Amino acid sequence: MEKYAKVMGVKFPKLTLDRTIEVLSDVIEENRAELFHVITVNPEITIACQKDNSLRSIIDEAGLITADGIGIVMVSRVRGGNLPERVTGYDTLLGLLDSGNKRKWSFYFLGADPLTNEKVCEVIEGKYPDLTILGRHHGYFKENEEDKIVEEISKLKPDILVVALGAPYAERWIHNHKSKLNAKIAIGVGGSLDVIAGKVKETPEVWKRLNLEWLFRLIQQPSRWRRQLILPQFAIRALMFREK
Ligand code: UDP
Repeated sequence: MEKYAKVMGVKFPKLTLDRTIEVLSDVIEENRAELFHVITVNPEITIACQKDNSLRSIIDEAGLITADGIGIVMVSRVRGGNLPERVTGYDTLLGLLDSGNKRKWSFYFLGADPLTNEKVCEVIEGKYPDLTILGRHHGYFKENEEDKIVEEISKLKPDILVVALGAPYAERWIHNHKSKLNAKIAIGVGGSLDVIAGKVKETPEVWKRLNLEWLFRLIQQPSRWRRQLILPQFAIRALMFREK
């Protein structure tokens, strides 16, 4: 069986969330020389990388990409690619925190506003007492502060660098500093820290099961409507796309 499903030319591995976490656990245990970049690719990024070659090569060079959104999974099923399930940044992060707690991994949290960044580390320390938070920095830094942040992460050598700067900025940031970060894995997690810290409400399980997470988020943050216009556009373009 083919190991990948192509959606608009992007090759998604056919991995469940559990399998994704196992793959990432292996990466940590293997002590690889290079940083392993995980990108959760949503419909917005899939559309953006059609025209943006630099974003496209960042995705192509990633260690692993996941199908972040029911739209991607559904298109893969109609087109015969059959991705098993969606693997979001939020769920991947929770899986990594859980495994990290069991296996005593170390983390660095970069991103979100200053208060949320502080709060999220308190919440995580409370819920996952056996993992180590080596450091943290909010995501509203100036360009001239960037070198200092990269240097700090590099000195601390976290197993996992969690980057919540919004997509695709987080992906570009990780890619640009990849060779200097000294982390085993780096992953952009969108607004996940806001949810863990309690700033944004978590999507209830029922809404997720009904594949209506997009609607729940729209109701919670109506300002997202403009961004969500991309979803029907994605469905039409992706279904009509001629895969090579
Ligand atoms: N953010 C940040 N610095 C910035 C812009 C955004 O740290 O310059 C944070 C923001 O506070 C939020 C996250 O990045 O925690 C992005 O959340 P959003 O839900 O917009 O993520 P997306 O789904 O767009 O990746």
